[in-house]
Amino acid sequence: MPIRIAIVGYGKIAKDQHLPAIAADPRFELAAIVSPRAPADEGVPVFPTATAMLAEMAWGLDAVAICTPPTVRLEVAAAAFGAGLAVMLEKPPAPTLGEIEEMERLGREARRTLFTAWHSQHAAGVAGARAALAGKTVRSLRICWHEDVRKWHPGQEWIWAPGGFGVFDPGINALSIATRILPMRLFVRGATLAIPANRQTPIAARVAFAGGFEADLDWRYSDGERWTIRIETDDGRTVELLDGGARLSLDGARQDVDSAGEYPSLYARFAELVEAGASEVDKEPLRLVADAFLAGGRQSVEPFDW
Ligand code: NAP
Repeated sequence: MPIRIAIVGYGKIAKDQHLPAIAADPRFELAAIVSPRAPADEGVPVFPTATAMLAEMAWGLDAVAICTPPTVRLEVAAAAFGAGLAVMLEKPPAPTLGEIEEMERLGREARRTLFTAWHSQHAAGVAGARAALAGKTVRSLRICWHEDVRKWHPGQEWIWAPGGFGVFDPGINALSIATRILPMRLFVRGATLAIPANRQTPIAARVAFAGGFEADLDWRYSDGERWTIRIETDDGRTVELLDGGARLSLDGARQDVDSAGEYPSLYARFAELVEAGASEVDKEPLRLVADAFLAGGRQSVEPFDW
């Protein structure tokens, strides 16, 4: 029997990635969609709220993929666990560490799977980078994550509201890769948060980590994307991830890497977890963002409008 899954939050990422990944994986069957406003025509029932869906057809579901903005997820996850369903969370899994810990507790109590789906950790080059760094001492780390907010989040107001993460919404992808591949933990020592005068969240940020490591995140870059992580080790090795983790280079030599694709790989992992009755909850990237906001100073920059 396939896992009957509902998508909660039918926006850009649900349409771009979740729908095709579910359609291509015989272990899943799309059973419902929750969409407060946008019409959905995928041949399955559509509900305005998760509560309405669960009241009417919880018996016909095994799992939900929560693809809403982060701030509304705790209520949805609590209701899903209450109905006995497994839960996949798009990244970032929650707006605060407190809420992801509560979801973890609720999942444990309900004995249901909770999966924090960090899609960038499933990029093709990530496993090879992790293997290359195992047991090494890192001498330098530089993350550069530059993209155009108008291209990747067109018109999305929630990213500028408290709990919306600002440039850390893509930046957390880089941190999810870093925490996956590094042989040690990262600690934030300071940050500069460049916040548009008319907004609540940063459009750019520089984060300084212990050890002289750094991350440079910027949403004002409109000439394509620059998503790179460069690491040097004490024994002279250079590990470089390019294109958001899709390409790997070791000591300057391009490596052959292979992947089913980030979202097909996420769904394959979710299926394994559901079948095993296990959970995978990785809070480390969210901790680094929370620490950057705690340790960061504000720099007011020019107002942002679409
Ligand atoms: P989006 O286009 O704004 O979609 C979010 C959707 O959630 C909207 O359709 C919204 O519906 C719906 N929603 C809001 N509150 C809801 C609730 N209580 N119940 C059910 N649905 C609700 O945003 P997105 O770009 O898809 O991003 C969503 C998440 O995916 C974010 O965490 C983001 O970081 C992540 N993500 C985005 C991308 C990307 O390229 N954009 C890539 C990877 C991951 P209404 O508009 O009708 O209110």
